[in-house]
Amino acid sequence: MSAPMRTWCVNHPSHEAVARCRQCGTGVCKACAISGRGGQFCSQECAEKYGAFMDRAKELGVSRKQGLGVMHRLSKAVGGLLVALVALLALGVVSIMFEIPVLADIAWTVRGWLGI
Ligand SMILES: [Zn+2]
Ligand SMILES: [Zn+2]
Repeated sequence: MSAPMRTWCVNHPSHEAVARCRQCGTGVCKACAISGRGGQFCSQECAEKYGAFMDRAKELGVSRKQGLGVMHRLSKAVGGLLVALVALLALGVVSIMFEIPVLADIAWTVRGWLGI
């Protein structure tokens, strides 16, 4: 087994690094490594930066999901409108084809209003 690449703590040049900062990649020894959300960090600042990055990534994921929800609702509404239009059209065709009395009465009334 060949010797692995050794990295040294940024604060203690004589201490071997046991972890690398998730944010900036700096090597840190056991005493200097800070455990944060998502891994080990060289400083509190890096831990916070990484945490903010994770939050933003999560927010982006959520907003994308919400966007899809809006599109889904919109397509559903358009679909409902289309169904209503088709039903109305079918009703008109049926009333003409079969001369349904009730509808014919309405037609006569409308004709009277229009003076045809
Ligand atoms: Zn760092
Ligand atoms: Zn150290």
